[in-house]
Amino acid sequence: MPEIVVLRIGHRPERDQRVTTHVGLAARALGAKGMYLAADDKGVVRSITDVVERWGGDFFIEHKVPWKRCIREWKESGGCVVHLTMYGERFLDREEEIKSREKILVVVGAEKVPGELYGMADYNIGITGQPHSEISSLAVFLDHLFSGAELGHEFPGAAIRVVPSPLGKHTEES
Ligand code: SAM
Repeated sequence: MPEIVVLRIGHRPERDQRVTTHVGLAARALGAKGMYLAADDKGVVRSITDVVERWGGDFFIEHKVPWKRCIREWKESGGCVVHLTMYGERFLDREEEIKSREKILVVVGAEKVPGELYGMADYNIGITGQPHSEISSLAVFLDHLFSGAELGHEFPGAAIRVVPSPLGKHTEES
C-alpha cells in the first residue's frame, strides 16, 4: 500500500473551512496518512483532530505548511507529487505508473492554483476533464489507488464506531 499524504493549497479561512475540513475527512476515511494545510487555520485542525480522537486511527493534520517547501522536501525524500487538476492527463493513462510509487503527495487546490505548481508536480492528473471539486477528485483518486481496499480499513483506538445496519443508526462506544 503506498503512503499517501494530501497537501491542500489555496485555502481561504473565511470561505473554505467546510470544504477543507471535508478534504481532510475524505482523505482520512479513504486511507491517506495525513494532510498538510498550506494556510493558518486552527479551526480546521481542531475539527479533524476531534474526529481522529473519537473515530480512531492516526491520521495527522498540520497547518501553516509552506507549500513549495513541502513539495520540495517530499521529492527530496524520494516521494512523488500528484497534482489533481481538470486540465491534467487522463488518470486512466497514468494510474498503473502512479500505483507503483511508494510515497505520494496529492495536491488539491481551492479556487485557482499558482501556475508554477504544474511544473513542480511529477504528474498533473485529471479525474475526468470536467470541473467538479477537490473532495470528489481526491475520493476517486484514493479509491482507484487502493483498488477499493480502503473501504474495509479499520481505525484502531476509536472511542466510537458504527455497527453497520440495514436500518437505523447503531454505534458502540469503548
Ligand atoms: N478551475 C480550477 C482549476 O482547476 O484550477 C478549478 C478549481 S476546483 C473548485 C478546486 C480543486 O478541485 C482544483 O484545484 C483541483 O484540485 C480539484 N478538481 C476539480 N475538478 C477536478 C478534476 N476534474 N480533476 C482533478 N481535480 C479536480
